[in-house]
Amino acid sequence: MIYDVVILGAGPGGLTAGIYAGRNRLKTCIIEQGQDGGQIALTADIENYPGQMLEGESGISLAERMAKQAEHFGVERITDSIDSVSLSGEIKTLHGKKATYEAKTVILATGAFPRPIGCKGEAEFLGRGLSFCATCDGAFFTGLEVFVVGGGDSAVEEAIFLTRFARKVTIVHRRDELRAAKSIQEKAFNNEKIAFAWNSVVTELKGEDVINAIVLKDTVTGEEREIKADPKDGMFGVFGFIGFLPRTDLFKDQITLEDGYVVTDEDMRTNIPGVYAVGDVRKKSLRQVVTAAADGAIAAMQAGKYLSE
Ligand code: NAP
Repeated sequence: MIYDVVILGAGPGGLTAGIYAGRNRLKTCIIEQGQDGGQIALTADIENYPGQMLEGESGISLAERMAKQAEHFGVERITDSIDSVSLSGEIKTLHGKKATYEAKTVILATGAFPRPIGCKGEAEFLGRGLSFCATCDGAFFTGLEVFVVGGGDSAVEEAIFLTRFARKVTIVHRRDELRAAKSIQEKAFNNEKIAFAWNSVVTELKGEDVINAIVLKDTVTGEEREIKADPKDGMFGVFGFIGFLPRTDLFKDQITLEDGYVVTDEDMRTNIPGVYAVGDVRKKSLRQVVTAAADGAIAAMQAGKYLSE
């Protein structure tokens, strides 16, 4: 079977593309290798998606409803991990672990993944004290101390979320000023469980099985200091939120990228006819659910137009 539209990735961009393509009666499938939602699956609270005022709405529940909406319009859901793609030519081919998929158009919605902290011990302690997902791992640190690395919206929002569990949350930021939106900053400054390590970067995580010490370097003086876990705790958590890297490995040799992100025109068209990109993988100025959803809608409508032409 040749699909009209294959959408790679089930974050808000991919799911919205599915809703629009399905509603347009295009033969559509969404291929996702993991959990629906992309970055928002790692987010506890969504408070700035228009109309998003449901009590207790999490990123996961929003993504679930988007996925149901796409399925309602007849979109097929496939769980597979794509190993290689051939995007040029009229029929595009995607080779997965389970099957090979053919499509007349492809919408790349592969998103982004958390940027590694880049410190010594990072690989060793991943999942043993180091995490990139507060929603997934925050509860493990109930009553303990945690360090949150970063100063953007994600770091500060997730630090606030982590105060539900942790005794104390220290935000480690490389400058003396946060990048996060002022409204988010205010919440953090007013939260007595949150402390700040300004002008600091993490150079090393130490411990036996779990992290029991962290080495911070002062970005102004270059001095290093080691902070040890309270002996009563014996460990603490470290969460990294220092931005994201676009997931483009699969097609980087075929699609034009800039600064690692996919270049599109305002109609989400890439350099290859019939191939579109949406959401966080795309070069753009604002990466949010609302912009990913808008990208998805535009790409699906453009794919429909391309098919009818
Ligand atoms: P971000 O805005 O790119 O911020 C990354 C933070 O990490 C910055 O404070 C940056 O420091 C720091 N950083 C970067 N590289 C570093 C390194 N190697 N070592 C130490 N620190 C480093 O990333 P984000 O907070 O994940 O947000 C990503 C996008 O999602 C943004 O557009 C953001 O607005 C959006 N977002 C929005 C919401 C919301 O609206 N509620 C929530 C989450 C995310 P500098 O400040 O010094 O550059």
